[in-house]
Amino acid sequence: MTTKQVKKEKLFIGGEWLEASEYTTLTSPYSGEALGEIPLAQLEEIDKAVREADNARETLRKLPAHERAAILEKMASLFEERTEEAARILALEAGKPFTTAKGEVARTVATYKFAAEEAKRIHGETIPLNAAPGGENRVAYTVREPIGVVAAITPFNFPLNLVAHKVGPAIAAGNPVVLKPASQTPLSAFFLAKIAEEAGLPKGALNVVTGKGSIIGDALVKHPLVKMVTFTGSPAVGIALRNKAGLKRTTLELGSNSALIVDKGVSTEKIISRCITGAFAYQGQVCISLQRIYVHEDLYDEFVEKFVDGTKKLNLGDPLDEKTDVSALISEGDVDRAKQWIQEAVSNGATLAAGGETTGNILHPTVLLNVANESKVSCQEVFAPIVLINKVSSIKEAIDYVNDSDYGLQAGIYTENVHTAFDAADQLHVGGVLINDIPTFRVDHMPYGGVKESGTGREGLKYAIEEMTEMKLVIFNRN
Ligand code: NAP
Repeated sequence: MTTKQVKKEKLFIGGEWLEASEYTTLTSPYSGEALGEIPLAQLEEIDKAVREADNARETLRKLPAHERAAILEKMASLFEERTEEAARILALEAGKPFTTAKGEVARTVATYKFAAEEAKRIHGETIPLNAAPGGENRVAYTVREPIGVVAAITPFNFPLNLVAHKVGPAIAAGNPVVLKPASQTPLSAFFLAKIAEEAGLPKGALNVVTGKGSIIGDALVKHPLVKMVTFTGSPAVGIALRNKAGLKRTTLELGSNSALIVDKGVSTEKIISRCITGAFAYQGQVCISLQRIYVHEDLYDEFVEKFVDGTKKLNLGDPLDEKTDVSALISEGDVDRAKQWIQEAVSNGATLAAGGETTGNILHPTVLLNVANESKVSCQEVFAPIVLINKVSSIKEAIDYVNDSDYGLQAGIYTENVHTAFDAADQLHVGGVLINDIPTFRVDHMPYGGVKESGTGREGLKYAIEEMTEMKLVIFNRN
């Protein structure tokens, strides 16, 4: 670790940049270098942030839709102009390979643009009350009103785009936000705050508080002025938050052990590189990372050979190098955990076909074959560059394996048979089924979310706005 002087960051509350009483040093997961001094918000500062957000409620609510849209458009274009700078922050604090980081910035731009568009089409419907006796001569319509202060708690793995999936729809709907980013990725949240300020977002509409979730999370979630909690992160934290949120609206976007089925008759040539990307992009630290692959026995040997060959060609190294495919895991603890899980799978009878070793905090992309279902790399969320490839003798067997999981975010199937495709779409118990693609596919306006322990509620701008607004009914009596 170097001892160079790093910038002391400030909390962003009520449109002001405020010093904190305590700080912690943020370091790079790849090099260990110090990246910044990060404020540790105290309970009073959480309370202040929520109150400032609440004070901004009326201003935001009265802002016409076209003005909210214009601010979001401006934020999108500022992100676009500063793509390199934003990607560099992601590479440094999250260890995200630079090319992948630029991809995240491009998606962040798209997310704010979609939010701007959706801001202009938040509307209700008219209800024919005269369908019921006694309802004659009445005009009824619904409107969608902003819910109020939204507390957004976000994970380390997409520090710009997953924050955009909360801040974008909240602003579009006219809600102020208190954002608590992951402790490992605060710099991208401060970068966002600067962009929001420059784009003319009213004071208090976005507040950024940093500090350990386990210490300040409760105060945020239980605050009486917070009307909604939108959380993306691990199932354990999400479930605990929901239990504390009481009647507040909650959206939980949690983890998964996403799976892909490969049917016989599929061209391996066509799909291998996409499968490798799905398994190892950003070191597998993606909620819909490809973790389990079930391949029909007719194709199994060919698939494994090509997959392992391709895996061995990935470039490992510095996230700032444009050629790097796989870099460091987010923490040393995660490297140790991943290695233990690989060991456990091997002791349960799995074959290690690639990887398994480490260079610093980089775990080499790892392929395991013939993995027992009860091994952690199969039944829990691995969140590391580890994928298993198992042989199946029928698609039904594969679907049973996919569904035999506590999670259900997205699942994919490659097949040339349209009946098999429809059957899989019917039978897979997940939030999204991908036919002829990996489960890792996502664009930002599609409805996205899971079943079972993968969460509740949907993101994707239009769907998040539904969660972030309340329906009000208005009836005119013309009798
Ligand atoms: P995490 O450890 O659950 O942390 C997520 C956020 O919760 C962080 O801001 C964290 O703050 C905060 N937090 C931790 N303990 C808290 C508490 N007791 N009360 C309130 N907040 C608390 O998750 P992560 O490791 O950052 O992210 C990885 C997880 O996110 C994986 O499970 C992944 O699948 C999931 N994820 C899901 C989606 C999706 O859309 N479904 C997308 C991306 C990621 P600190 O950092 O300060 O601890």
